[in-house]
Amino acid sequence: MTGMNVVGDLFGAGKMFLPQVVKSARVMKKAVAYLEPYLQAEKLASDLSKNAGKILLATVKGDVHDIGKNIVGVVLACNNYEIIDLGVMVPCEKILARAREEKVDIIGLSGLITPSLDEMVHVAKEMEREGFTLPLMIGGATTSKVHTAVKIAPHYSHAVVHVNDASRSVPVAGSLISDELRPELLKNVRAEYERLREQNKHAQSQTKYISLNEARRNKFKTDWEKTEMVKPSFLGNKIFDGYPLEEIAEYIDWTPFFHSWEMKGSYPKIFDDPVRGFEAKKLFDDAQHMLKKIIAEKWLTAKAVIGIYPAKTIHDDDVEVFQDESKRKSMAVFHTIRQQTQKPPGQPNMALSDFISPVSDYIGAFALSTGFGIEKKIEEFEKQHDDYSAIMLKALADRLAEAFAERMHQRVRTEFWGYTKDEKFSYDELIGESYRGIRPAPGYPAQPDHTEKITLWKLLNAEKNTGITLTESLAMYPTAAVSGLYFSHPASQYFGIGKITKEQVEDYARRKNMKVEDIEKWLGPNLNY
Ligand code: SAH
Repeated sequence: MTGMNVVGDLFGAGKMFLPQVVKSARVMKKAVAYLEPYLQAEKLASDLSKNAGKILLATVKGDVHDIGKNIVGVVLACNNYEIIDLGVMVPCEKILARAREEKVDIIGLSGLITPSLDEMVHVAKEMEREGFTLPLMIGGATTSKVHTAVKIAPHYSHAVVHVNDASRSVPVAGSLISDELRPELLKNVRAEYERLREQNKHAQSQTKYISLNEARRNKFKTDWEKTEMVKPSFLGNKIFDGYPLEEIAEYIDWTPFFHSWEMKGSYPKIFDDPVRGFEAKKLFDDAQHMLKKIIAEKWLTAKAVIGIYPAKTIHDDDVEVFQDESKRKSMAVFHTIRQQTQKPPGQPNMALSDFISPVSDYIGAFALSTGFGIEKKIEEFEKQHDDYSAIMLKALADRLAEAFAERMHQRVRTEFWGYTKDEKFSYDELIGESYRGIRPAPGYPAQPDHTEKITLWKLLNAEKNTGITLTESLAMYPTAAVSGLYFSHPASQYFGIGKITKEQVEDYARRKNMKVEDIEKWLGPNLNY
């Protein structure tokens, strides 16, 4: 069976719409059954034999993530769409030029990291400016219907539709291309987006913000006198090259693996699901098979650099990092952002800096990737038109990177920093992060600013020590990479910053010595104005 068939079956049985890869009458019938809720079944059935339209897909400039986009591409191709896939990190000009040249029917943009949201707004504005009338489909992990409605759609007078589910891309593309179906779809989408904009405005007006000083006064407080500081077993950086993949593989969290294939559910319960169970098991078996080969034939190389440094909090919200215990030589300052929405009594306005003592403490940092060597294999698969294996390998490389982060964090806790020497956690407890300490990643809710990665990279000398580079949007390359800080505080926890006021943006810009406009660009989704 070819890879494509497996994808087809997988999505078909997953109550999704990826039907007629195998163009058997049975599968065709199933496809039509899935479509019924969305479209007129007969119309689609009759259209399946011919080219359904031409769709350009691209991951926007600065972003390197493409599993979701590739799945959408396969799903659409399986439904007779001709796909022009421009790959990753595609500048706006190239997207628009190729859309013209190829006379495509739809442009689909994808992205995973927050700066990509801004890039999508830019593409929409450029389409408007250049007089495009083509429909625009928006998808990818950080995109949302609300963002599409509030930030993207208002800049383009023609169709803009958020599609975050490969199975939905088929009926949506079908309607966007069809002169008969388009008006109805657009009417509904426009009404829905208008409603979302109103709701968003209303929610914003209901949220109360406190001043930055008030927020600082309401920080998460620690009695530092009573908090034991464990001295790490080493200070400075430590490099790992060619870390054993078989050791890493033990730490894979399999639930997100299914999500990357757009199968909802959790591992291992998903295997008992009456609808998805069978396909989930097959997918899992294929993954195990490939994982064995990845390890045995060394398809991928894992590299990491970690660091543990003396540190202390300065001006409430920043963390200064020092070369040694004397704290005479400053190495870097990490800047953190503080929650600014008014909290119910007793709840703090947190910043990550609250987990570091203002007198004497430690902070850790890491950057790692399991994506070295992936390109050669991906090229091989693409040459064989084996999209299934190409997507599988990317999904597994991502899983290994997260697993490596889990394993390394465990070694930091129990061995390198050693603040929990005798922890004994089951697989579920580890994956559930029940242990003491956190490893927040820049660009995630507790520190949404990706530019902190620049500081992280300098401190770890990460590019030289691992080979992981940062794109202009500060996405990591190879894509299967994770980075972040380590906090050992017993009460350290993940949280979301939410929205912040211009007062904090200005203060933060001053502390980081950056322009307010630049901070506003990086923190777009977090501005309350
Ligand atoms: N087991 C999961 C781990 C990744 S998700 C997997 O294999 O995919 C959890 C990680 O995301 C955390 O370890 C942390 O690095 C990051 N994270 C989650 N919530 C966060 C938050 N609010 N702020 C910063 N980082 C966060």
